[in-house]
Amino acid sequence: MERATTPNRVALELASVARDASTCSACGLSETRRQAVPGEGSPTAALVFVGEAPGAREDLAGRPFVGAAGRLLDDLLTSISLRREEVFILNMVKCRPPENRNPQRSEIAACAPFLTRQLQALQPRVIATLGRHALAVFAPNAKIAEVHGRPYAQTEREQHHGAVLFPLYHPAAALHNGSLRPTLERDMAALREYLSADTRKGAGEATLREVDSVPTRPRSETTGEAE
Ligand code: URA
Repeated sequence: MERATTPNRVALELASVARDASTCSACGLSETRRQAVPGEGSPTAALVFVGEAPGAREDLAGRPFVGAAGRLLDDLLTSISLRREEVFILNMVKCRPPENRNPQRSEIAACAPFLTRQLQALQPRVIATLGRHALAVFAPNAKIAEVHGRPYAQTEREQHHGAVLFPLYHPAAALHNGSLRPTLERDMAALREYLSADTRKGAGEATLREVDSVPTRPRSETTGEAE
């Protein structure tokens, strides 16, 4: 795919992905979804969060992370002085698996072209995966308990669309297991540190604050998925 180089071109490609996802019938999830949840945020985001799949609330709202896990994600973003409009938030699978079951391998594979197009368009500096399923898409052999909270395999940027992978626990995991919450908070602080250091190194490049937000739709509720 050709690189989308300006914010407008990036936004156009992201809108095209959203349109294509909304009519996609590549897997069975298309039969049970209310609507696809392509993701949202800034087309100039240096930081992209990749979750697993929409839950009931997201399926209703058409927006990612709008339920309990989303509220925790918002709080975590606030704790590092970021708003969701400054980053991009998406899921590896765009349609809700029934009963919030884990997405199947075939569903992840069917949806992969959308994720690839989004990441190729956004060209983020950092991809923060949320939970072990999203991590597995980028680093199939990595164990989240061993790699969370720091950049993973920085030498393999090319394999991650030119971005550094920064694995995090899923916010829903911290809701189910309270002892993970301080870990997630520490990991977010580490992510902030990493982004600040990376921005200082790349003086002259776009910073996290150079925001050109795409419009978002009204907010509703969701479910999350634990590790
Ligand atoms: N859990 C996810 O992985 N994604 C969402 O959008 C909501 C909950």
